[in-house]
Amino acid sequence: MDTIRQRLEHDLHTAIDRLRHLGGAVAVEELPGPIGINLPFADRVDEIQASERRDIGCATRELLVGRVNRLSAALDRLDEGGYGTCVECGEAISPARLHAVPEVQTCVRCQDRLDRLEGLGRQFAWETIAPQFDEG
Ligand SMILES: [Zn+2]
Repeated sequence: MDTIRQRLEHDLHTAIDRLRHLGGAVAVEELPGPIGINLPFADRVDEIQASERRDIGCATRELLVGRVNRLSAALDRLDEGGYGTCVECGEAISPARLHAVPEVQTCVRCQDRLDRLEGLGRQFAWETIAPQFDEG
């Protein structure tokens, strides 16, 4: 388990370091893990890059802040004994998934569901999914 802790701490320090050095020109780092939003995200970044370079800095910062939060949360759960358990459904996260993304908080199934929800919120106007809430 020390290996995981070291890796989490290393990744945490790296992410914080990047945040500190985040200047005007920012390279968009590859998103961690085999998450399906990688390619659409890259496409969108290319579009943004042509027009608003400043927005990329914000997007990258958001990604890094999110990663820092997940990494520190993972370290907390490592201390509390909840590490490796999906925070959504309580099932064990597969070792392969943890190996690929040590800070991951959810199993593949829950992550997929969350990604879809997040993707909907980002890609479409809120009107698109709002009616679903009205219908219950
Ligand atoms: Zn789950």
